[in-house]
Amino acid sequence: MMIKKVDHLGVAVRDLAAAIPLYRDVLGLPLEKEEEIPTQGVRAAFLAAGEVHLELLAPTDPEGPIARFLARRGEGIHHVAFAVEDIREAMARARAAGLELLSDEPRPGAGGALVVFIHPRSTRGVLIELVQRPRGPAHPPDPRAREVEPEA
Ligand code: ZN
Repeated sequence: MMIKKVDHLGVAVRDLAAAIPLYRDVLGLPLEKEEEIPTQGVRAAFLAAGEVHLELLAPTDPEGPIARFLARRGEGIHHVAFAVEDIREAMARARAAGLELLSDEPRPGAGGALVVFIHPRSTRGVLIELVQRPRGPAHPPDPRAREVEPEA
């Protein structure tokens, strides 16, 4: 499927402001940005651990997938995201292998990426996200990302 690398790990948390200090201050991971992702009913904080990122996800929609995950399983690792070169090709291969995609088309994710999720039912219990990053420089600035707000 032409997986390039692990792109990020998604971690479900109840409260971003309560979770960030562990990763930023105790573990010392740079906080890159916070972003609202209305299509997924979450607010996300992104931290860098070398090339791999952590995506802390807190619910903004009480009926959204992260709120439901927290109610069922509590806080913890929510998904593993793999970067792919061509998401449509990866989706076709996943379908051909009998994996259950959660959407028929790639959806807009954070930072202008295209993403699709694969149901954990078909992956032995792991929610897998495939991510196609926008082409361009290695770390293009994201004009849609807002500045991280200072601590209140
Ligand atoms: Zn993700």
